[in-house]
Amino acid sequence: MEKLAIIGAGPAGLTAAVYAARAFLEPLVFVGPAFGGQIAMTTEVENFPGFPHGLQGPELTANMREQAERFGSRMVEEIIEKVDFTSGGPFKLTSNEKEYEVLSVIIATGATPRPLGVPGEQEFIGRGVSYCATCDGFFFRDKEILVVGGGDSAFQESLFLTKFGKRVRIVHRRDEFRAGATLQRQVRENPKIELVTNTVIEEIRGNGKVNEVIFRNVKTGEQSPSSADGIFVFVGHEPNSQLFHGNLAMSEEGYVSVNERLHTSVPGVFAAGEIHDNWFKQAITSAGFGCMAAMEAEKFLAGH
Ligand code: NAP
Repeated sequence: MEKLAIIGAGPAGLTAAVYAARAFLEPLVFVGPAFGGQIAMTTEVENFPGFPHGLQGPELTANMREQAERFGSRMVEEIIEKVDFTSGGPFKLTSNEKEYEVLSVIIATGATPRPLGVPGEQEFIGRGVSYCATCDGFFFRDKEILVVGGGDSAFQESLFLTKFGKRVRIVHRRDEFRAGATLQRQVRENPKIELVTNTVIEEIRGNGKVNEVIFRNVKTGEQSPSSADGIFVFVGHEPNSQLFHGNLAMSEEGYVSVNERLHTSVPGVFAAGEIHDNWFKQAITSAGFGCMAAMEAEKFLAGH
């Protein structure tokens, strides 16, 4: 019987692991399919306190992991495929390798990039369509790059992609952007970046790999083809909560419902980070939620 399982190893899960391990809960951390979560797919992280000169996303999560392991967290390279919270506890977790019984759980499975949902997108994933500039930017040296979205991710990653592309065009469906003022200024000052506003991508075309998109101007309805080699999509995220359907209360959009102390609808099960937070969605806020969830799990276990 384990005291605490943490499902997910992004900033929320890893911070929960640091706190839980320092409280001698010896947490099992199920790393899942993508260690580090979204921040590990990010390039320069400039706003995480304590790093005045910024650092790379993968470096930040590797540091968090080292810190969590130093205090006795156990990283498990398995994927949880089934949970049963209906018994009221102890809870059963089934991974791709075995079954676990745990007294408490912190869910920190985060969110996944949302696809555009246009013809050609799925077909060309890995052959021109990408959701990760850090992973794939290198393949587009001196190529035509499109970035879709008007938020911080689109702007941040466009700046990074100018290292590779001969030109980077940000395609956005409106003519106002959600991206913060600093990023907007940096983008506007970068001669390699162009803004294509009031425009959506209607279709992605290619021959083995992407070579063209069809733009549609949302104001005029006019369609026009444009050459493109790489399309980086940053149009928001969807919570990774499929595993918990039928076990926990959730919002219509699939975010796990929690109270102000991150308790879910099942006592002993807590949620931290973008699995419940549809508002702040920052690495630092997820880390803070991870800390809170671990403190609450500790209280729950003390009273058990
Ligand atoms: P976001 O802020 O939700 O922005 C998503 C963008 O995609 C919006 O501009 C949205 O357009 C557009 N969009 C959504 N669905 C679309 C569709 N089907 N077709 C075309 N466009 C679509 O997402 P994000 O940029 O990934 O940021 C998520 C969170 O992470 C935010 O809280 C952000 O502040 C944070 N973040 C921060 C940093 C940083 O501080 N440096 C870096 C990255 C991310 P509309 O504007 O028209 O809705």
